[in-house]
Amino acid sequence: MSGLQHLRLDRDERGVATVTFDVQGSPFNVFNDQVIGELRAVLDELEHDLPRVVVFRSGKASGFFAGADVNRIQQLETADEVRSVIDAGHEVFGRIEHLPCPTIAVIHGPCLGGGLEFALACRYRIARDDASTKFGLPEVTLGLIPGWGGTQRLPRVVGLREALRIILEGVNLNASKAAADGLVDVSAPPEIFDATVSHFIDDRMMGRSVRRPSHGLLDTLLDGTWPGHAVVLATARRRIAQRGRDYPAIHAALRAIEAGFGSPGSYGFEVEREEFVGVVFTPVARSLIGLFFQRERARKPATWVRGVKPAIIQKTAVVGAGTMGAGIAQLLAFNGIPVVLKDINDEIVDAGIKKCAALTDAAVAKALLSREAGDALMQSITPTSGWESLAGCDLVIEAVVEREEIKRTVFKDLAERLPNAVLASNTSALSVTRIADTTPSPERVAGLHFFNPVHKMQLVEVVRGRASNDATIATLVELVRKLGKVPVVVADSPGFLVNRTLFPYLDEAVRLVIEGVPGAEIDRAAVRFGMPMGPLELLDQIGVDIAADVSKTFAALSSDVGPSPTRFAEMVSAGALGKKSGHGFYHYHGDRRGKPTQWATPKHPHSPVQNADAGELSALQKRLMYPMINEAAKCLEAGVVAEAWMADLAMVLGTGFAPFRGGPLRTADTLGIERVVRGLDALSGEYGERFEAARLLRTLADEGRGFYADTQMHAHV
Ligand code: NAD
Repeated sequence: MSGLQHLRLDRDERGVATVTFDVQGSPFNVFNDQVIGELRAVLDELEHDLPRVVVFRSGKASGFFAGADVNRIQQLETADEVRSVIDAGHEVFGRIEHLPCPTIAVIHGPCLGGGLEFALACRYRIARDDASTKFGLPEVTLGLIPGWGGTQRLPRVVGLREALRIILEGVNLNASKAAADGLVDVSAPPEIFDATVSHFIDDRMMGRSVRRPSHGLLDTLLDGTWPGHAVVLATARRRIAQRGRDYPAIHAALRAIEAGFGSPGSYGFEVEREEFVGVVFTPVARSLIGLFFQRERARKPATWVRGVKPAIIQKTAVVGAGTMGAGIAQLLAFNGIPVVLKDINDEIVDAGIKKCAALTDAAVAKALLSREAGDALMQSITPTSGWESLAGCDLVIEAVVEREEIKRTVFKDLAERLPNAVLASNTSALSVTRIADTTPSPERVAGLHFFNPVHKMQLVEVVRGRASNDATIATLVELVRKLGKVPVVVADSPGFLVNRTLFPYLDEAVRLVIEGVPGAEIDRAAVRFGMPMGPLELLDQIGVDIAADVSKTFAALSSDVGPSPTRFAEMVSAGALGKKSGHGFYHYHGDRRGKPTQWATPKHPHSPVQNADAGELSALQKRLMYPMINEAAKCLEAGVVAEAWMADLAMVLGTGFAPFRGGPLRTADTLGIERVVRGLDALSGEYGERFEAARLLRTLADEGRGFYADTQMHAHV
């Protein structure tokens, strides 16, 4: 067929038609208006001259389909426009479903969102079984629901319970789980994948039937009977009650699934479409889609530095084999970069290697890599307590204890031995500029602040010291990308962006405890706001001893120190270090959190928990969250980051700040900057100057502007 840009249609003499997708101008296949249009033209042709079998596959090594084009979703402005995009997908996928010949989706790599909805419209699915292949409908993580039939077809293919898990929780399946669930008919390892596909096609031409997995009695009762559905749906409703309050798309998806499961035909598809229209313009979807694009933007090197090439990194070293050093070394090796792991003696290095091995074993257990690849990974980590093995390193990451004099000595030694390497410090809050000063080439020194646990946390702050040059920053940004993480470049200021913004919130929580507000109430207010855990539980996880150190750094800079550093010091001397010592702000039984620790209550306990207007924050939430919003604004004002979105993305990825709110500055926009300034004024009147509103907040309030231009957008829908 001619005139096609993104698809190719080939027919062979046996009557097999192969449709190959290779969407131009995009590294992944995505569905957009042109691709849907071309698919419609191909279907016209196939319906006109019916082949014996149709095979759909991707011509891209990057995978089958990443989903629908999120850019297109973001551009949608009216409900009618949304309806026409949804209808187009329903129509085209419906035609594929109704082709009277066998249709086969041949899948390698990611098969997500609209890509999986497309594959579900085919009669059969075959998957290449390797670590890159994954299936999922991640729409709820963007504040949306699957809109092209996913809520209708998936439950029919994998059963109601599994479909609810995949759609409502956004979980991905690998190829073998997809085969066990019946989502794919066959999965085969890469060595025999092509031969398996070819046999499968032959069998369909011969009219042989495909055996689908049989389900056990419980599955049959729950997934295959009306009373069973009622039980499953009621359980799902209970399970999503809490998350669903913050993420309305979860309820919307459940309603669409329920509508389709109850009545075959087009009704479910219509409900799906209207539920999609109902969520696409909500502030939650706007925040989550915003974060999606911010993440993409942060991973583009040109966002941070232009016109400089990163250095080629072939050999690296990590100095300090503790919690962070071991995690960073394992991450480098996991991504194919050989690394030397150094500490002060062999015993400590051995312990570090054991930590790397435990992380690698866990990755093998999760099928992220094979046992052989895991063994090769461990071979690429060279343990040492000497200097010799570091010869030839292009990059060293320092992760020794958080003491400035020790770090300065390490950097002096490193600079002498490796005069051409880039040197990075994983310090949490110390001055990168002062550490760099000990070296003859401070332009090659910067901060590279990973978060704990390294393998899970997506953010890495790349800290530009006063002398760091663009080539150093470009090299570190490129490394972070290569490690699959998200870089945010920040200026060298105490605590950089994330710890600096988080600390006033943690400090306020401790002040509240000292005032006599019950700890559980403080944490509950933060969790209700959308934080993954409360500030006191977070302090217990970080370690009260570490918090004590950090509080000293901030206290040295603050004019309003308050009682928190003293309280931390008292807890440390009482052995209340948090989770690791069995108690801190809470008691712990193994991994389980128990009761809050009882503190001596002051004479007039004060509990500012009431006064929550609908849509507003409670008094307690304001006391906790306004300091964080205010500090993020101060960071932007001081140039710690260049743009508001950088602070928001860093706080969401670095601390789990309520993603549906889009970050602290987006929250200020949503609440209204003027309201936030008024709230801060009231708090500073009552509690003092630590609540003094950032100048930037006042300016924005005076000018009637927000941090984001699009905050008022879509308000008409
Ligand atoms: P850790 O105490 O677990 O490990 C520090 C390691 O450094 C120890 O094994 C110690 O033997 C080694 N060390 C000390 N002096 C050394 C020297 N001269 N040469 C080589 N090794 C030396 O500490 P950690 O939690 O891994 O923290 C390391 C760094 O990472 C600190 O700067 C910390 O602020 C930062 N950080 C920690 C976290 C966290 O949550 N733990 C998060 C982000 C950043």
